[in-house]
Amino acid sequence: MGSDEWTRVECPICNQVAGEFEPFGLKPRLNARCPTCGSLERHRLIWLYLVNETDLFSSRPKRMLHFAPEPALRGKFADHLSIDYVTADLAPGNAMLEMDIADIQLPDESFDVVYCSHVLEHVPDDRKAMRELLRVLRPGGWAILQVPMFGEETDEDPAVTDPAERLARFGQQDHLRAYGRDYPQRLSDAGFVVTVDRYPARLGQDLIARFRLTREDVHYCRKPLAGGTGGFVERVPVRVSAPGPRRQP
Ligand SMILES: [Zn+2]
Repeated sequence: MGSDEWTRVECPICNQVAGEFEPFGLKPRLNARCPTCGSLERHRLIWLYLVNETDLFSSRPKRMLHFAPEPALRGKFADHLSIDYVTADLAPGNAMLEMDIADIQLPDESFDVVYCSHVLEHVPDDRKAMRELLRVLRPGGWAILQVPMFGEETDEDPAVTDPAERLARFGQQDHLRAYGRDYPQRLSDAGFVVTVDRYPARLGQDLIARFRLTREDVHYCRKPLAGGTGGFVERVPVRVSAPGPRRQP
């Protein structure tokens, strides 16, 4: 079935099927937000990635840190028996721990998994935040670190503080920069081994339309084993054959 013929949408997180999703955003995007769980395009993409491409929901026990936890996802992580789940947020009352991502008050090498989506563009010293996320991961542990990306080179200027100028230049009033295609280099500089996965291209247009997914690359960042250094690889966009989630956690 071609994408033009698809007349329903489906949320892979809560399994809601609808004619279309709700509009969402400052300049509302049509068909964006799941009316049942509140998921947006980027949440549904990451959900499929976590289910199909990582070991997050395997039976092996693991400790997970989730920054700025999204309501559509946090319950899924919290309820999973093999995940010892910790949430953190800069704002009081949003998470289990109130914490600055650039100054994480947790021990070294205490997590197997970190998930942090659309946070780093709000953080003044994002390079320090990346090093902090690396520090709390165990060697061999992995993080999904997503940001909105525009253009080629990251555009940032601490002198830009006017909300209207930030909106125009960085895409949102509280964004401090607009990341470009050099973003994975920044993660690599912090010490991660980064895989830039063109996951939406691998899923293909039919699944993008069916689940209404963002086309963001997935940044899968592994902490090297002792003595290893950062680096990055781009995964070739080979189309996956699976028609959706392989298993529902
Ligand atoms: Zn949903």
